[in-house]
Amino acid sequence: MDDLKVHGVFGKSISHVYTIEFQKRGLPHAHILIVLRADDKFSTSEHIDKFVCAEIPSSIENPRLHEIVTKCLMHGPCGIEIPEASCMEAGQCKKMFPREFRTETTMNVSGYPLYRRRPGDTAFVRGREMDKRFVTCC
Ligand SMILES: [Zn+2]
Repeated sequence: MDDLKVHGVFGKSISHVYTIEFQKRGLPHAHILIVLRADDKFSTSEHIDKFVCAEIPSSIENPRLHEIVTKCLMHGPCGIEIPEASCMEAGQCKKMFPREFRTETTMNVSGYPLYRRRPGDTAFVRGREMDKRFVTCC
């Protein structure tokens, strides 16, 4: 985490905290909160899109990133066709997948980003063809 402060990839941070958790299959992941100084806060869709992507990378242009995203950053499969999925409750995914397709990143009324997920590329993940609505983020 000190690298983020030193190099300022996202801008100048004034504070940060993180925790590392292990998912059911043993995959470690981090929850990180970085507080940026006011001038560096992500205030536009273009700024967010420089660092966050909720799409499936091309398997031809970037096969390694495609492999990582489709292996580690896809939710599900779940949905009304798979009511037995662990995330399903009362016919809906508790994690709110699949998300909606969006042609651009926007902010909701609370300022929470709704990431760009353009229709198009799909990938076979855990035996199902899945699209960008199931990408958790990368
Ligand atoms: Zn789900």
